[in-house]
Amino acid sequence: MIPTLLPTYARAPLSFVKGEGSWLIEADGRRFLDLAAGIAVTALGHAHPKLVKALTDQAEALWHVSNLYQIPQQQALADKLTEHTFADTVFFTNSGTEACELAVKMARKYWDAQGQPARSEIIAFTGSFHGRSSAGIAAAGSDKMTKGFGPLLPGFTHLEFGDHDALTAALSDNIAAIIIEPVQGEGGIRPVPDQCLKGLRDLCDTHGILLIFDEVQCGVARTGKLFAHEWAGVAPDIMMVAKGIGGGFPIGAVLATEEAASGMTLGTHGSTYGGNPLGCAVGCAVVDHVADPAFLAEVARKGGLMRQKLEGLVASHPDIFESVRGSGLMLGLKCVAPNVDVVQAGYDQNVLTVPAADNVVRLLPALTITDDEIAQAVDRLEATASALEAA
Ligand SMILES: *Cc1c(COP(=O)(O)O)cnc(C)c1O
Repeated sequence: MIPTLLPTYARAPLSFVKGEGSWLIEADGRRFLDLAAGIAVTALGHAHPKLVKALTDQAEALWHVSNLYQIPQQQALADKLTEHTFADTVFFTNSGTEACELAVKMARKYWDAQGQPARSEIIAFTGSFHGRSSAGIAAAGSDKMTKGFGPLLPGFTHLEFGDHDALTAALSDNIAAIIIEPVQGEGGIRPVPDQCLKGLRDLCDTHGILLIFDEVQCGVARTGKLFAHEWAGVAPDIMMVAKGIGGGFPIGAVLATEEAASGMTLGTHGSTYGGNPLGCAVGCAVVDHVADPAFLAEVARKGGLMRQKLEGLVASHPDIFESVRGSGLMLGLKCVAPNVDVVQAGYDQNVLTVPAADNVVRLLPALTITDDEIAQAVDRLEATASALEAA
């Protein structure tokens, strides 16, 4: 008999009743050090007082109104995001997937409005993840996500991650946009080298192609910059944001330049919940907190500290781990042992991590993790590796 919850997840036998900062707590009081953070979502940790206050204050005043009316919290969040980024305009969604939908629609609509409706092809890369909608799975293109869901949304070309020659060869007059994660998350914490992001920007400028960055996982201070592409000193035309921006409240966004957004005129897109007062009140509190240069510098410093400790871990457990990769507090342990075994063995040491493709274990702690918690995290991973070696 089918479970009453549609069985699309292999869930661990863990159930939490409370969260505090970097910790998740079970009903019996067992405390887990959370290096998953809801998959890079709870950027300020669990139950951050500023976010609790933003949410409860807004909940007492007004939960929801339609986008038929002015929503001051939404306007405020759009103003903050445009102030801190390349973007001139923002549309709010409820998830990363919906941000992908709009990014694709916006790019195609742009060329339609330019009188080039055939210019609709989008180039994407292997190992990428852009969400689970029809556009999202078509963009990522992996068999695992698309099999059985055809016919797929047409117009996507998939190139090997890092294959520059294939990219040059794939260019044609029908390319509307290139979509890429500056740091692949689900694909196994694979950062795109800065010079490659710069090269992509140049290529897009030369050929008039729109550049879409999917910063759903790597954005919102995760790498120690507000958005990961800032490390490379280049900006996209369109950017997808979600996960961390709500700190656990479901909200996403598409940011764009005025030019890239110019096809999206009155009535061309909408959302019932997107940008509602609750989500935007929390989003404002998150952005105010993480956009502070001192906060960003701390994320970068703590990322360096954690990485250094992880290098030591890898060196002392060569049968379990191969290498460390990533940026800031978006880190991956490339494993020798099966990554799912490492994640599972971690549960016995009260540490939560996330598997990714390429046999990588992801470490995506709250950006507020302390130095002491970083030390505890690596100790627990050490104990995890030792337990696996002894097994
Ligand atoms: C998680 C993720 C998405 C999808 O976001 P949802 O909120 O799960 O719909 C899209 N792109 C990237 C890079 C992601 O990590």
